[in-house]
Amino acid sequence: MKNIILLAPPAAGKGTQSKLICDTYKFIHISTGDLLREEVKKETTLGIDLKDKMETGKLIEDSIVIELLKNKLDACKNAEGFIYDGFPRNIKQAELLDEMLKESDYKIDEVIYLNLDYETAKNRIVGRCSCTNCGEVYNTLIEAQKPKKEGICDKCNSNLYKRNDDNEETFKTRFEVYEKETKPLIKYYENIVKEVDSTKDTNEVFEEIKSILGEPK
Ligand code: AMP
Repeated sequence: MKNIILLAPPAAGKGTQSKLICDTYKFIHISTGDLLREEVKKETTLGIDLKDKMETGKLIEDSIVIELLKNKLDACKNAEGFIYDGFPRNIKQAELLDEMLKESDYKIDEVIYLNLDYETAKNRIVGRCSCTNCGEVYNTLIEAQKPKKEGICDKCNSNLYKRNDDNEETFKTRFEVYEKETKPLIKYYENIVKEVDSTKDTNEVFEEIKSILGEPK
């Protein structure tokens, strides 16, 4: 079972590339952001607390994230592999992941660092919206990525939504948190990390990722 981490600042395309990797390699997509958003949707006491914190762009406590992650991993025992998207977010989480994998005789096989500068990331995020049904991602500020009909998915005709945390102020905090907490992971994984330039278009980035991961089985 392969364990692959996508390490990146906000808007570098972690979600999009994870989807492509999972379709091609039949891996399971583990997005801690998605797991947290599912909790928010349930409107539990925990969910309500999470919502406020996530909207400011700050990180959620490690214990909560780890608990959600463990539940997800337990539910997917026979997977070919996992793509970790948005996890680990700090050194503590990386150490906890190492411990968890070690218990089952697994390890991190690849760490792919999707590099993106602040300005490009900011421009991408402010216009981003996604389909409520199929998850397709659009950008209302980038001509080639606009939906044909405003607010409607080209693929399945469902409504598009904008994440509450996709605004400029939250973006600034998220980028600062990334620089301070997450970027040090490049050093933590220095022996296995491989860098991909994420200013390139989606397909080019995916081709580079495929050359790192090799042929699918
Ligand atoms: P994402 O969808 O990965 O951009 O995450 C959205 C928000 O969820 C982040 O800004 C954090 O508030 C929270 N979050 C996601 N993953 C983690 C994590 N591994 N540790 C702490 N907070 C997280």
